[in-house]
Amino acid sequence: MSETLSFNLPEFVNEPFTDFSQPTTAAAMQAALQQVTARFEKEYPITIAGEKIQTGSTFTSYNPAAPEQTLGRFQMADATLAEKAVEAAWAAFPAWAKTPASTRAEYLLKASDLVKARKFEIAAAMVYEVGKSWAEADGDVAEAIDFLEFYAREMLRYSEPQPITPYPGEANEAFYLPLGVGAIIPPWNFPFAILVGMSTAAIVAGNTVVLKPAEESMLMGAIFVEIMEEVGLPAGVLNFITGDGAEVGGVMVNHPLTRFISFTGSKDVGLLISEQAAKRIPGQRWIKRVIAELGGKDATVVDETADLEAAASGIVAAAFGFQGQKCSACSRAIVVESVYDQVLAKVIEKTKALQIGDPTDPLAQVGPVINQESEDKVLRYIGYGHEEGRLVAGGHKLDRPGHFIEPTVFADVAPEARLAQEEVFGPVLAMIKAKDYRHALEIANNTPFGLTGAFYSAREERLQEARDDFFVGNLYLNRKCTGALVGVHPFGGFNLSGTDSKAGGHDYLLNFLQAKSVTRKIG
Ligand code: NAD
Repeated sequence: MSETLSFNLPEFVNEPFTDFSQPTTAAAMQAALQQVTARFEKEYPITIAGEKIQTGSTFTSYNPAAPEQTLGRFQMADATLAEKAVEAAWAAFPAWAKTPASTRAEYLLKASDLVKARKFEIAAAMVYEVGKSWAEADGDVAEAIDFLEFYAREMLRYSEPQPITPYPGEANEAFYLPLGVGAIIPPWNFPFAILVGMSTAAIVAGNTVVLKPAEESMLMGAIFVEIMEEVGLPAGVLNFITGDGAEVGGVMVNHPLTRFISFTGSKDVGLLISEQAAKRIPGQRWIKRVIAELGGKDATVVDETADLEAAASGIVAAAFGFQGQKCSACSRAIVVESVYDQVLAKVIEKTKALQIGDPTDPLAQVGPVINQESEDKVLRYIGYGHEEGRLVAGGHKLDRPGHFIEPTVFADVAPEARLAQEEVFGPVLAMIKAKDYRHALEIANNTPFGLTGAFYSAREERLQEARDDFFVGNLYLNRKCTGALVGVHPFGGFNLSGTDSKAGGHDYLLNFLQAKSVTRKIG
């Protein structure tokens, strides 16, 4: 049904990033870093249909830069509670689905105001919980604000009358309905932005959800729940549950009342979920929809005509920003042989100049990796690197508490090597030599992934060729392959990188809607 908007919204614009070189903003961030420590011993309940539940068994998320520091105590839910959460979402669905789109959008806009007001506090908590630098944490919160603002507007657009071809003797219309109960399963690496975006896109479209944050970043989930409660979101629309990913997530995915699963995370878990969702459970009346955004093995291609300085800067920023723990991180630099040594020398120099340190320090550019498992994995791949390439920068764990690993570069890696094919999700870059730009493009396309890519060249026809043939969901010409902005760079991958849902784009809400066509005979 179309409806009249109860408010006029200005056009969407991206939330600006904070300039921490200003003494006032730097002081505000320092104060926030101090203040949020007061939260660290708190215990957070599960929220099901507005009811606050404590299970008697808790677990913690911790600071990867200082593992003895606990960020909060969270409930360990079991399968029964996960089922209860899905049932609560199911019970809340009919009323929420009939709530006008403009009312649903207003909750997001109010939430955006609250996030703006708590920007420094949320960014500070994120610095401790996942080890982001100030700028990365600020960007994450800004992206969450963007998602709230963008999806609110998008829902208003989708609730307007949809274009339809006139037909004699009939009055026709098509409009969008929500799907039902959604399982929302985000990763820890954009612990606020992705969690907020995935949850609120589903909610504003009229669905009710069970949100299970990643175990590494549960405080970010708890803060989001506080905000949605403060804006008065009806009980049961957003149910929040913490626990073991496989156990609780497994129940959410396999429940017969679950209508869709919105997942962002690793390839292996995404494929498992996709397989599980394909099986019909007794009592299930629909084909479950899976929106899965997964990993990457993203490449930067540099040809002999490129601005080599800009290319090397782009490679290093995209390889080591947030310690390489972005799905969009550059983990392969593919350089044509005539300029390979020059680019390699610049990459080594820029990598060695990066400041490693505790992310509470505003000067730290590279912080810790997320946990022990990740540290072990990164060090294992560094081991492979010694077999498959030539170590030219980094390569070691720092001798200090926390999961700090040096930004690491291996040169002369073969295109088929493990280091060139498998996602490491840490600060490790493989440099690969190509005969020419076409060969480089071939190498770039030759992995099972297809998420982001960058192509540096001064030649217009080559840029055009990359535009057409570099098979990734997000391609960047003459700039780095990280840093997608909501509304500007709709985000999602090809191949095993995902279902190409294009978060932050005009198609995204369609993932959470189904269209109904109605024909009335007239005359
Ligand atoms: P992960 O797959 O380990 O976990 C993701 C989520 O799934 C977590 O909430 C986890 O608790 C849950 N989970 C784990 N096992 C489950 C199971 N059996 N059933 C249901 N849920 C389960 O991934 P991660 O370590 O949190 O995130 C890193 C990965 O995410 C990387 O591969 C990265 O590339 C990818 N990622 C992709 C995008 C994208 O947009 N394509 C964005 C961010 C991160």
